[in-house]
Amino acid sequence: MFIGHFAVAFAAKKAAPRVSLGTLVLAAAFLDVVWPVLVLLGIERFRIVPGFTAVNSLDFTYYPWSHSLLMTIVWSLALALAYFAWSRDRAGALWVGLVVASHWVLDFVSHRPDMPLYPGGSDKLSLGLWQSVPATFAVEGSMFAAGIALYVRATKSRDRTGTIAWWTMVGLLLALYIPGPWASPPPSENAVAVFGIIALAIFGPWAYWIDRHREPASQRVSEPPRS
Ligand SMILES: [Zn+2]
Repeated sequence: MFIGHFAVAFAAKKAAPRVSLGTLVLAAAFLDVVWPVLVLLGIERFRIVPGFTAVNSLDFTYYPWSHSLLMTIVWSLALALAYFAWSRDRAGALWVGLVVASHWVLDFVSHRPDMPLYPGGSDKLSLGLWQSVPATFAVEGSMFAAGIALYVRATKSRDRTGTIAWWTMVGLLLALYIPGPWASPPPSENAVAVFGIIALAIFGPWAYWIDRHREPASQRVSEPPRS
């Protein structure tokens, strides 16, 4: 999934208001932070096969360290512990861990059966939502809409930046996502990995920036008039 991971991050802000949206975005995308680095290092592998799924041409042949179920649990615990060590926010750390783990569930729904249970395991799972463009758009699009709805209800802008930066990010994500099924296959595997790193290096800090210009909607509740 792509915008589905962002949808989880947006929705989680309602459950974990003290965790920055930037942290939630990086947590939701974390397996895809690890993955392109391991691809560029030659540790994990995938191939570009035009038409491999209806939505994109990515054949994930070997990615047990970033995307196996066991390693997802390890990454989730590691990030939750790191967040707790830094913030001392127990509830926030729990949500960070759950958001990291959500990535596996969403990829499990969308990928062709290619997700290992553990490094070295030969059983590969996944449900293959990407075999259908309409189904992918319906599922991921409604998740994205729900994530946006929860986020804008849970937060409000402190200033104009809080509104403009947020809606610009939403618009850019849709502009990158919607043409995907009709775009020509990427030029090379390394180009995909580099693009992935650049995208997260932009959207991660962008989400931290948004977060500094928005606040929980319930904050600053005006005092009831006295007498
Ligand atoms: Zn992934």
